[in-house]
Amino acid sequence: MTAGPAASLRPGPDAEPMLEIRDLSFTYAGDIKPTVDHLSLTIHKGEFVCLIGPSGCGKSTIFRLVNKLLNPESGSIKVDGRDISGRKNYCGYMPQQDLLFPWRTVAENVRLPIEIKGGMDQNDMDKAVSDALNNVGLDGWGDKSPSELSGGMRQRAAFARTILTGCDLLLLDEPFSALDYLTRLSLREWLLKQWEREHKTILFITHDVEEAVFLSNRVLAVTGFPISELKSVEIPAGYPRNISSLSEPGMARIKEELIDMLRREAPADEK
Ligand code: ADP
Ligand code: MG
Repeated sequence: MTAGPAASLRPGPDAEPMLEIRDLSFTYAGDIKPTVDHLSLTIHKGEFVCLIGPSGCGKSTIFRLVNKLLNPESGSIKVDGRDISGRKNYCGYMPQQDLLFPWRTVAENVRLPIEIKGGMDQNDMDKAVSDALNNVGLDGWGDKSPSELSGGMRQRAAFARTILTGCDLLLLDEPFSALDYLTRLSLREWLLKQWEREHKTILFITHDVEEAVFLSNRVLAVTGFPISELKSVEIPAGYPRNISSLSEPGMARIKEELIDMLRREAPADEK
């Protein structure tokens, strides 16, 4: 059997590491217990990995450590083979809320990363922004204010802005969780197309098992508190995927297994 385009999207066993976290620990000021305790994990180049776990378990804390909004107590983080200490612009980060500045137009929001980086003349900047808006289906919306866009369109603009950081590693923190179900469904398919086109490595936080199974080639599930180990679960379906991929053999079973695993790990009063 020949490898189709779906198979080519899956990183092979020899794929190089994109993100390497080793022995990472972090405790919030005033807390007795750590939130992250000697955690190690590796994400390979080209992977789409979902990090799943109950609310408040520390998923976003891991992102804040990777993007240096927080400093670890101990441990190391490497991106593309190099330690992140002293580095800028090694990952793109998209938080749950789109965080588009309301006083800037959509295009002015999207061009922020290249404006901050500097070194690009006005024409090249305009071209980069117009290409990015085009790629996310927002051609002609650049001059609007973010408040004139729907929730789904704002998330697509925020994604275009994340892409314009030029980083190969993207950290997406529950980007669709505030959207209605149908918009979420179409944005999931849309995001997989973006991933395919842009050849990025994506680490995506969600607490939605169906979303994790639909998107990822591998799911990392939080298996206890504090986070010291993540359970890695391979997703059997190939790419491209659409809504019917969830009914493929093996997918329903994996979904049930993950729900079961997460329920076992939920704090006793939430069971
Ligand atoms: P998740 O993203 O999985 O929902 P977070 O990583 O945001 O969880 O938070 C993990 C835990 O750390 C939660 O119990 C939360 O209350 C606590 N926490 C988050 N931010 C802070 C902070 N700035 N100071 C103290 N505790 C915090
Ligand atoms: Mg969070």
